This record gives sequence, structure tokens and C-alpha cells, in this order.
Amino acid sequence: MADVFDQIFGQPRVRDFLRASVRSDRVTHAYLFTGPAGSNKTQSAYALASALLCENGGCGTCDTCKRIARRKHPDVRYYAPEGAGGYLIEQIRDIVADASLAPIQADRKIYILDRVDLLGVAAANAFLKTLEEPPADVVLVLLGRTRESVLPTIVSRCSVVPFRHIPASEAAAILAQKTGASVETAKIAIESCGGSITRGIEFMKSNERLVFRRKVLDVLARIDRCDSWDLIGLASELVVEAKAPLDSVRAAHEAELAENADFLAKSAIRQIEARNKRELTARSLESFRQMTAIIASFLRDVLAVCAETPELVINVDVRDSVEEVASRVDEARVVRALAAVNACNEAISYNVSPETCIDALLFEIGDSLYGTHSPR
Ligand SMILES: [Zn+2]
Repeated sequence: MADVFDQIFGQPRVRDFLRASVRSDRVTHAYLFTGPAGSNKTQSAYALASALLCENGGCGTCDTCKRIARRKHPDVRYYAPEGAGGYLIEQIRDIVADASLAPIQADRKIYILDRVDLLGVAAANAFLKTLEEPPADVVLVLLGRTRESVLPTIVSRCSVVPFRHIPASEAAAILAQKTGASVETAKIAIESCGGSITRGIEFMKSNERLVFRRKVLDVLARIDRCDSWDLIGLASELVVEAKAPLDSVRAAHEAELAENADFLAKSAIRQIEARNKRELTARSLESFRQMTAIIASFLRDVLAVCAETPELVINVDVRDSVEEVASRVDEARVVRALAAVNACNEAISYNVSPETCIDALLFEIGDSLYGTHSPR
């Protein structure tokens, strides 16, 4: 029988383990999913949530399952660190207080905490009691990059579920199979989405995202022909377009609140509003990461051509511009440009305004590749 666990791509052992735990009623109150970015941990956490809240064990087709898949179920909460360096103590206190409240629609609540490797000692201490003995109707699913990067006091209170690294070629093959696209196109989507199959599927479904990618690549191909004012203009256009999908997220939030306003308590509405705000922040970060991933992917292709390994080019649909750029630069210059992309990614993670970052990034790429955009 098809169920939500079928959406756990590339992790057969995790899929079988979680499915068996739910079917044999051996679900524990706290899990720690460990694995690298793109290994499908978030999707798996939502699949588990579906299996636990759905009356049919995670059918994937009922209203509950659909709401969870759209990240819209009020009893499935997702948290990511809100501080520059990780989780804030206040944030953890809010989660602890929230966990003691009754579920809104289902008979239990699922808390998904992303990046618990960024849970410092003080914030972790505020969380330990809840983690050890959560309210009976709460299941906690913590996500972290590696077991070693998570505080031992956290690890010891969770059932650890290790996720394997999914090689990019395998991820692309899975994506191609799920979407019916060619493997070449799937590779491009996987690269643009930091290796994530789940985001790759969304990416391929969204014409908007594909158009955005072409625009980013187009800017890169003609960066040497832009003067400073052109670059400032292009950077702000890219920022606006990177944020464009947020408008529809915001509209969906407003519609959801309007639809539920009559029967939800004020406190529940406040929770939904807070969740919506977090989702917008997370989505906005994701859009910018996607932009830098697209840029890095193009530069790696240029590097591949410079290094005389053109068969490694991923963005085959723009091979002409990759080759054109490669014919005018050398490896050292491309490596410098790639370093600028990494620095930009870090700055975005540390809450530097994306507008400033993207602006600076385009200048630095131009300067690294062609030495044309030194400050004047
Ligand atoms: Zn269902």
C-alpha cells in the first residue's frame, strides 16, 4: 500500500525503520535524525508526522496528510535557529511553553527542530526536561548534521536515526524518475537546490524558479560587459525576483488565517502568526541560498572547462556561455569567484541583508573573473 513513507527518497533503511515503528506502535517520544544537508531529513520528519496524525497511518491523500504536506497543519510545528549563532534561549522557552498546550486539530503534536547542532549549552539546558519527558501528546523530531555535532545531553535522550549522504548522481536519478524529466535537467535542479531531492522536485515544478535561474545565469554570462551602475541595477532585480515567491506564501497565510479566524482561539491564532513569520524568514533565506547555489554551479562548470574536463559541465543548457566565460578566464580567477560565493552564503546565514550581499557578490565575481570592478 502506498503511504507517506514512500516520499522518503534515497533512504531505504530510514523509510523501513520509520514505517515499521509506526505500524508496530513503537514510536518513541523523541527522535534525532542525523545526516548531511540534502539527505532528506526534513521530508522524512514530515512523513513521520503524517503517519502519526493521519487516521489511516499516513495515507498521503486525506485532508490531514495534505495539510501536513503543504506545511499547513497547526499541530506540526517546524523550528529553525533564530539567532545568528544558533537557537536563542527565549526561542527554546517558547517551544517548551507551547509543548504544554493541547493540540489544535489532531490528538497529538509534532515538533520538528531543525539544526539542533546549533543548540548551545544554555539553550539545550532549557530544553532537557521537555526532551526527557515531553507531554504525552507530543513527539519531538530533532534534525542535525552529524551525531557528534549535537550535544551529548541531547543525543542521549533521543532515538538516533542516521541518514546517509545521497550522491548527487543518485539524487538526480531519483529526481528524474519522480518527475519524468531528463537526467541532465534533474542534475541542474539538484545543483540549484543544494542536493535536496525534495526541493529539486519543487524547483522543477515551478516555472517561476526556472525563469529565475535563467536570469541569474544570464547576468553571470554578461557580467564583464556591465558597469557599476548596471550591476547595482541587476543585483536589485535579482533580489526582487528571489523574493517573489514569498508573495504567494504571504497570500496563502492570510487566506488560511481568514478561513480559520472564526473557530480558533486567540492563542492559537497567535501561534499560527508566529509560525507564518518564521516560515517567511526561512523561505527568504532559502531563495537566496538557491541563487548562490545557481551561481556556484555555473562557476564550477566554468572551472571544469578551464580544467579541460568539459564532460563535467552540469548546466548543459547554457554550455555556450560557460565556454565563452571559460575562454577568457583562468582557474585561479574562477576559484576566487567561488570563494566570494561562499563568503556571501556565510554572510546571509549571519543575517547580513541579502540586498547588500548580492550587490557585493556581483561586484566581487566581476572583479575576480575579469579584474574590472575594483572600487572606483
Ligand atoms: Zn492521511
